[in-house]
Amino acid sequence: MAARTGAAYLAGLRDSREVWLNGVRVTDVTAHPSLAAAARSIAGLYDLQLEAGGVCLAADPVTGELVNISLITPRSRFDLHRRHVALERLARYSAGLLGRSPDYVNVTLAGFAGQRQLWAANGNEQGAANLVAFHREVQSRDLALTHAIIHPVVDRAMPEHLAGGGEVVLHKAGETADGIIVRGARALATLAPFADEMFVYPGQPLPKDATSYALAFSIPMSTPGLRILCRDSFAAAGSISDHPFSGRFDEQDAVVIFDDVVVPRHRVFLDGEPEIYNKVMASGWAANIMQQTSIRAQVKLQFAYELATRMVQVVNGGNPATNEMLGELWSYHELTRAAVVAAEAEARDYGDGVWFPDERPFRALRPALPRWFPRVNEIITLLGSHNLLATPHSAELAHPDLRPLIDRYYQGAGNVSAAERIRVFRAAWDFSGTGMAGRNELYERFYLASAARMYQVAHASAQRDGNWDLFDSVIPPAS
Ligand SMILES: Cc1cc2nc3c(=O)[nH]c(=O)nc-3n(C[C@H](O)[C@H](O)[C@H](O)COP(=O)(O)OP(=O)(O)OC[C@H]3O[C@@H](n4cnc5c(N)ncnc54)[C@H](O)[C@@H]3O)c2cc1C
Repeated sequence: MAARTGAAYLAGLRDSREVWLNGVRVTDVTAHPSLAAAARSIAGLYDLQLEAGGVCLAADPVTGELVNISLITPRSRFDLHRRHVALERLARYSAGLLGRSPDYVNVTLAGFAGQRQLWAANGNEQGAANLVAFHREVQSRDLALTHAIIHPVVDRAMPEHLAGGGEVVLHKAGETADGIIVRGARALATLAPFADEMFVYPGQPLPKDATSYALAFSIPMSTPGLRILCRDSFAAAGSISDHPFSGRFDEQDAVVIFDDVVVPRHRVFLDGEPEIYNKVMASGWAANIMQQTSIRAQVKLQFAYELATRMVQVVNGGNPATNEMLGELWSYHELTRAAVVAAEAEARDYGDGVWFPDERPFRALRPALPRWFPRVNEIITLLGSHNLLATPHSAELAHPDLRPLIDRYYQGAGNVSAAERIRVFRAAWDFSGTGMAGRNELYERFYLASAARMYQVAHASAQRDGNWDLFDSVIPPAS
């Protein structure tokens, strides 16, 4: 079948999955008042890939099927270039606010499948073969994947897998004739209610003896025993002009509980190998996924810069202080763009002909973005001040008694109409101030681990890779 329509995607979500929201089991995520809008938005991405097939689709070199480029393992600089173009097109659809649009996990899966030799170590040939077969299946059925790689935090002072008597963190609890039984929880699975498959793969490194926790597999969201507990919804009902982001892009985040779930053997990619578990995420994964996620971040930063510039323009608020803030926003966008260009320029073969960008620019960018995005929101808040809340609802704009008053008292500078000014500040509030905006800021702070952790990784990697000889070449030796 390969690349699907939005309608086919939505039809696939109508199954027996166990999604809980506000204590109620959701029977159909495509019809639920708090979930349907986001489901439609993801469906829109599937339609977009067909409408913009020239940039979003390509034939898989092995099967010849026309698939989303995010699902193709990059095997050249050209592959990375065309993937860039496709990822940017997809990110522009939501101004980068859909952090976990399906292309996110697609890129990871395509990378894993290309690096099958890493998975095939220590006698795990069958697991690696299962992973490659799964990649083919995702391509040919055009499945949307969610992923959960983080263990629930119970007690930060002890090894994660031992918390709660070793029963909290996802682990293997037994075997059946056809597969393995898994039990425990993982967090957070963004997109979970809107995904076809739950893809579990390695996260933070595990100790050598934590064999029963070293798992990778994928199962349909409707698998019995898979319980999906959504966070509170931030989806706003009503007109998109009132809620341009929360009306469309609440992609949801869920804790997933595996309540003695049977994973069929052909879907088990890793079973009890901490060494492989720790290796597959340290051998190109970051360089691969950071292309997708940095392009999305760049698009979002571009949007933030355009939005903030518009906010200043509609009230004629340009002055040295506001221009400084606009310049700061532009710099974040440009530095992100430059990091992607640099990483792609020094792309290389990571083994077996699989190409990923250079990881170093991304190592620098990865901890910077979680600190830039909160600052972006702060700048929008500072520029917006009370104007962020002086934004009548579309129903008030439509009211014949109120409209003349709104046109007079909410007008902007020069010939900026009240409707235009309201449009800008409503977008600004939904971007930086609503519950959805708060969730999005949390996302940017943590979705690829905290800045603190990532700066530590950057330093450790720099020490491992670098030839740091400048100090000794410039400063005379101690006598
Ligand atoms: C909105 C959202 C969506 C997410 N979606 C997904 C998803 O789809 N799939 C998925 O698998 N995960 C997802 N995650 C989880 C995400 O991967 C984790 O939040 C991330 O790995 C960071 O882990 P943590 O939250 O435990 O924070 P940590 O990295 O543990 O940081 C927590 C705090 O501790 C501090 N800290 C931690 N370690 C150190 C250290 N070594 N030194 C100094 N300070 C430290 C940090 O500065 C920070 O303040 C999501 C998270 C959020 C917020």
